Amino acid sequence: MGLVVQKYGGSSVADAEGIKRVAKRIVEAKKNGHQVVVVVSAMGDTTDELIDLAGEVSPVTSGREFDMLLTAGERISMALLAMAIKSLGHEAQSFTGSQAGVITDSVHNKARIIDVTPGRIKTALDEGNIAIVAGFQGVSQDKKDITTLGRGGSDTTAVALAAALDAEVCEIYTDVDGVFTADPRVVKKARKIDWISFEDMLELASSGSKVLLHRCVEYARRYNIPIHVRSSFSGLRGTWVSNQPQGDQPMEQALISGVAHDTSEAKITVVGVPDKPGEAAKIFRAIADGELNIDMVVQNVSAASTGLTDISFTLPKTDGRRAIEALERAKASIGFDSLRYDDQVAKISLVGAGMKTNPGVTATFFEALSGAGVNIELISTSEIRISVVTRKDDVNEAVRAVHTAFGLDSESDEAVVYGGTGR
Ligand code: ASP
Ligand code: MG
Repeated sequence: MGLVVQKYGGSSVADAEGIKRVAKRIVEAKKNGHQVVVVVSAMGDTTDELIDLAGEVSPVTSGREFDMLLTAGERISMALLAMAIKSLGHEAQSFTGSQAGVITDSVHNKARIIDVTPGRIKTALDEGNIAIVAGFQGVSQDKKDITTLGRGGSDTTAVALAAALDAEVCEIYTDVDGVFTADPRVVKKARKIDWISFEDMLELASSGSKVLLHRCVEYARRYNIPIHVRSSFSGLRGTWVSNQPQGDQPMEQALISGVAHDTSEAKITVVGVPDKPGEAAKIFRAIADGELNIDMVVQNVSAASTGLTDISFTLPKTDGRRAIEALERAKASIGFDSLRYDDQVAKISLVGAGMKTNPGVTATFFEALSGAGVNIELISTSEIRISVVTRKDDVNEAVRAVHTAFGLDSESDEAVVYGGTGR
C-alpha cells in the first residue's frame, strides 16, 4: 500500500461535526494500510470572513500582512483535525505550509510554488503519524515571508505534495460527487464523469468549471499525478483525472466531456478604431502594460463609409476598472472614439477532445443556443473547445439546452450538492 494525499475543502470541515467526520475517513485510509498526508482548507467561509474583516480595518487588502492573516484560517483547521484524529486513537501531526516545505516565489496573494522539500512530512510519516498540512500557503524562498497561493490554492498544495512525495494518488474531497458534465447547481441532470483526461479537465477549468483550479490540474499533468475528485459526504467513487484510464477505471474518453459556464468576466468594446495596421497592437499593449490578462477577442468588419471598426474583448470583472483606465490613458495615441463596458455577460463553453474528429459539433452547439433563443455576442474556439459570450440572464438556459443537445442529460437527478454556500 502506498502513500495517498487527501485534500479536504472548506465545506467538508465547516464545523466540529465535519471535522470529526473527516477525521474518521482519514483514519479509515490509514487502517487500510496507507501512509496518509492530508491537506486541509480553512473551515467553511473563514477565508471570506477574514477578507471582510481586513476590509473593515484597512483599505489595503493585499500584500504581506494580508497573507499572514489568511493563512491563519488553515492553521485552525489543521490543528483541530489533528486533535480529532488523535482522539480516535491515531497519531497525527499538523504542519504549516512553511514547515511542510512548500517554497514559493515572493508574489504575495498569488505566489507560485517553486520547490517542495517535505523532509518533516517524511519523518512524521516514518514515525507512524498521519501528517496534516495547511493548504494554500508557503514560504518565499528569498525573504522567508509567509505567502498564499491564491483563492482555492489548497488543491495545488495537495498536488504539489503528492508529486514531491511520489504519492499513488491525490484525492480531492469536495461537496459534490466528482466532476460533472455541467455545474450540478444549474443542471439537475448533470452526469458524473467517471474518467477525464488532463487536457479536457484543463479546458473545463479555464472555462469556468470550479471543481478544480487550472493551476492544480496543470501541476498534476506536469508531474503525472492522478487526481481522484470525490465527495467527503458520500462513499461514492468520484471522477479520475489522469493521462489515461487505469486499472478498473471506466471507458474511453467521451466525445464531449462537458459544458462549463463563467459569469466572472466582463466585456469591453473599443468603439471607432481606425482600421489600419498597428491599432490592435496598441490596444493590447496598453492592456498588457497594466499586467491584465484578457480572454476572448473579436474585431468587427469595419464600416466602409468610415473606415472605423470595433474591437471587443473579455477579461475578469475584477480587472475591468483597471483596463478601462489603461485604455483611457492611451486614448490619444490609439485614437478610438469611446469605450463600452458590459459586466452583464456570461461565457458558455463546450469541451471535448472528440470534437477534433467529429464534424457537426459546432453546428449542433449553435442550433441548441438558437433553439433556446440565446443571442451570441462573441465566439472563440480551440481544438477541443467552443466558447460563446451571451447575456448573463440567458446563461442557465443556454447551459441546459447545450447539455441536452449533446445527449449529456442523465436518466436520474443524480447530481447532489452536499454543502457549501457557493460564496
Ligand atoms: N481557504 C482558501 C480559500 O478559500 C484556500 C482554499 O480553500 O483552497 O480560497
Ligand atoms: Mg475555501
